[in-house]
Amino acid sequence: MKEHELQHMDEEIRECIACPLSDSRDGAVPGEGPEDARVVFIGEAPGRQEEKEGRPFVGRAGSILNELLSSIDLARDEVYITNVVKCRPPDNRDPTVEEIAECREYLDREIDRIAPAVIVTLGRFAMQAMFRRYGIEAGSIGEERGTIHRVERDGRTLTLIPVYHPAAAIYDPKKKDVLLEDFRTLRRILDEER
Ligand code: SF4
Repeated sequence: MKEHELQHMDEEIRECIACPLSDSRDGAVPGEGPEDARVVFIGEAPGRQEEKEGRPFVGRAGSILNELLSSIDLARDEVYITNVVKCRPPDNRDPTVEEIAECREYLDREIDRIAPAVIVTLGRFAMQAMFRRYGIEAGSIGEERGTIHRVERDGRTLTLIPVYHPAAAIYDPKKKDVLLEDFRTLRRILDEER
C-alpha cells in the first residue's frame, strides 16, 4: 500500500504543470503499487487507456506485462509500476528530453522512497534514465536487454535489468520470447536474493 509520502506525490503529479504535457493531457498517471515493493518496473509514458483510467500499464502493453508477471509467478499487486513521464505525450509520440528532465524529480523520489532490490526498465527511455542515474554507460536496448547491473547505493546492492518495452511484443512476437527469457532472469535473481 502507498503511504503518506507517495500519496502526497500523486496529488502533486495530478496538479503538475511543469512541462508542456500538462496542456495536452486529460489526466496524469502516477505510479502504482506498494511502497515496500521489492521490484520497480519503469516504462516510458502513459498511453490513451492509461490516461483514461489514471493507472499505468492497463492497455495492450499492460496485458502483456501482466502475462509476463504471471509467467514468473509475480503478482501485479506486489510490484511497483511507473513511467519516466507521468503524462501522455500527444499521439503517443516519444517524450522529449526536456519533458523527461522536468518529470525526473518524481521518478527519483519514487525510487528513493521505495528503495527496491531490483529495478526493471521497460524500453529504452527508462533504461537511459536509470543508466544515467547510476552512472552506467548505455548501449542500445538490443545490446543491453537482459543484462544484469549491480549498483552499490547507501550500503545496499540494487540490481538493474533493462528489458524491451512490452509494447514491442504487440507487433513482433519474437520480442515476446525475449521478454519471457528476461523475466526468467528476473525470477532467478529474486529467488537468489531471498
Ligand atoms: S509529464 Fe511530469 S513534469 Fe510534465 S506535467 Fe506531467 S507530471 Fe509534470
